[in-house]
Amino acid sequence: MASSLSAQLFHRAQRSIPGGVNSPVRAWKAVGGEPRFIQRGKGCFVWDVEGRSYIDYVGSWGPLILGHASPEVLRAINDAMRDGTSFGAPTPREVEFAEKLCSALPSVEMVRLTSSGTEATMALLRLARAFTGRSRIVKFDGCYHGHVDSLLVAAGSGAATLGVPDSAGVLPAVAETTLVATFNDIESVEACFDRFPGEIAAVIVEPVVGNMGVIPPDENFLSELRKCCEENGALLVFDEVMTGFRVAWGGAQQRYGVVPDLTSLGKVVGGGLPLAAFGGRRDIMELVAPVGSVYHAGTLSGNPLAVAAGLRTLEVLERPGTYERLEELGQRLEKGLWEVLADSGVRGCVNRVGSMWTIFLGVSQVRNARDARAVDRDLFCRWFQGMLEEGIYLPPSPFEAAFLSLAHTEAEIDVTVGAAARVLRRLGGG
Ligand SMILES: *Cc1c(COP(=O)(O)O)cnc(C)c1O
Repeated sequence: MASSLSAQLFHRAQRSIPGGVNSPVRAWKAVGGEPRFIQRGKGCFVWDVEGRSYIDYVGSWGPLILGHASPEVLRAINDAMRDGTSFGAPTPREVEFAEKLCSALPSVEMVRLTSSGTEATMALLRLARAFTGRSRIVKFDGCYHGHVDSLLVAAGSGAATLGVPDSAGVLPAVAETTLVATFNDIESVEACFDRFPGEIAAVIVEPVVGNMGVIPPDENFLSELRKCCEENGALLVFDEVMTGFRVAWGGAQQRYGVVPDLTSLGKVVGGGLPLAAFGGRRDIMELVAPVGSVYHAGTLSGNPLAVAAGLRTLEVLERPGTYERLEELGQRLEKGLWEVLADSGVRGCVNRVGSMWTIFLGVSQVRNARDARAVDRDLFCRWFQGMLEEGIYLPPSPFEAAFLSLAHTEAEIDVTVGAAARVLRRLGGG
């Protein structure tokens, strides 16, 4: 029986790599079938090992805001590479990069580089606990902050419940330091503070959620969070690994005008190479070693190639009109998808903030994790596979954000909307 190259590779991979992948969602468990192995990407397109091309809305899960193989980013990496790949010593470009991050996000007075978003949020929690002398953290049901032990926690039942581990191998004693609240529900946060007065070090939030699909914050939610943290002596941590330089030059904190104490960055800041960052108020950041007593280190932290890619990406994004362009593309796609949804008779909704978007099928509104979990998973599988056949590469899970890049154009968006119309009409029985 002839099987595709992707299928052959996937079976081979599973013998030497758990599940055949280096990050679980890549295995397509939520949609079935074998993941396409990708050969190359250019602009807004990727090609699989069979040579089929797709319009890509995964964008490496967020980093590729300039599209694949951006000539400017490749040139920056190439130039940096000629001087060597890593020194484990300070380099000039990382100073420029840190200054760029601090100038884009006024709440970030000092910044430290890491290689992944996970490391950045992990460091922030340690820092928040050291600064406040408190042990507990509040997170939101459905928000993902990397695979940090104390953040791999799902909701119990309702607000202010003690966290239970989401992963085997996480100690219950660690998970219990995490309280789980409901996004867009300030009362659920107040309930945490009421239950553990004086014990909560920080509230960590994705200011625009991307990791249960895209969920924007309600009108006053972030400013109420800000106020609630202040009243209770806790730090407000924005995990902007996905939203930083994505929803605005200054991230969600600029877009919504709410100032956090600490911020994590990742994805876009690395321009497709492994690079992330954490930063914030100077008085807190000065606790980081070697100035202060909170340990943080990394053999490849601030890696010269990654910093070169990240810096060039930010330089391109800083040009006038980039975020307006992303908004324009996002609006066109959103409008098209709402229209074809309505025509098809399939129940669903489109959530979008700038160039981040998700289509939720089987539900008419998604404001929190409970709403998101109500999606029709079977319908999503058929949507995903239908779009794939049409040459549209979407995130292979109903609980993920899709991304536009500056390499997408009206033409690809219109092709995508046309494909969506055919697929949804079929799903609607039309
Ligand atoms: C992707 C992501 C992380 C984890 O970053 P990695 O680089 O995958 O470790 C953390 N927080 C948010 C909001 C993310 O989207």
